[in-house]
Amino acid sequence: MDCIFCKIVKGEIPCYKIYEDDDVLAMLDIAADVEGHTLVLPKLHAADLDECDEQTYKKVMLASKKIANHFLSQGFDGVNMVVNCKSAAGQEVPHLHVHLFPRKNGDNVKIKVDHPQIKLNLEDVAKKLRLN
Ligand code: AMP
Ligand code: ZN
Repeated sequence: MDCIFCKIVKGEIPCYKIYEDDDVLAMLDIAADVEGHTLVLPKLHAADLDECDEQTYKKVMLASKKIANHFLSQGFDGVNMVVNCKSAAGQEVPHLHVHLFPRKNGDNVKIKVDHPQIKLNLEDVAKKLRLN
């Protein structure tokens, strides 16, 4: 399969490894923007959250928590955890990954949904989207 993250998992393309276990690899994001910006991905290919089985998802999320806790223990003040699912949500690499952004107080990094939307009626939205 022509997947860049699978090639990284196989060692065919180098990366700056932060963490590895039998099922998960975490590496620095090549964007080199926020210090410690890390991608946590399953070694088993799954295109996105939608396609990913529960076992794999749990492994990725538990590793993400472990790494986030590690960042906090290294002196960072906070961590953002972001998953983009499908291109409509900005996903560019179709191999599931969690972005971790270590944060410092007052670092001026902005990670937010910015949509110049009129105020939604939350009752209508809840009626439409409620799962149970
Ligand atoms: P997303 O938009 O959520 O799919 O994010 C994909 C991320 O992968 C981007 O932040 C890219 O900078 C990052 N990326 C792409 N290629 C590589 C690579 N070879 N090594 C590390 N990060 C990469
Ligand atoms: Zn892949």
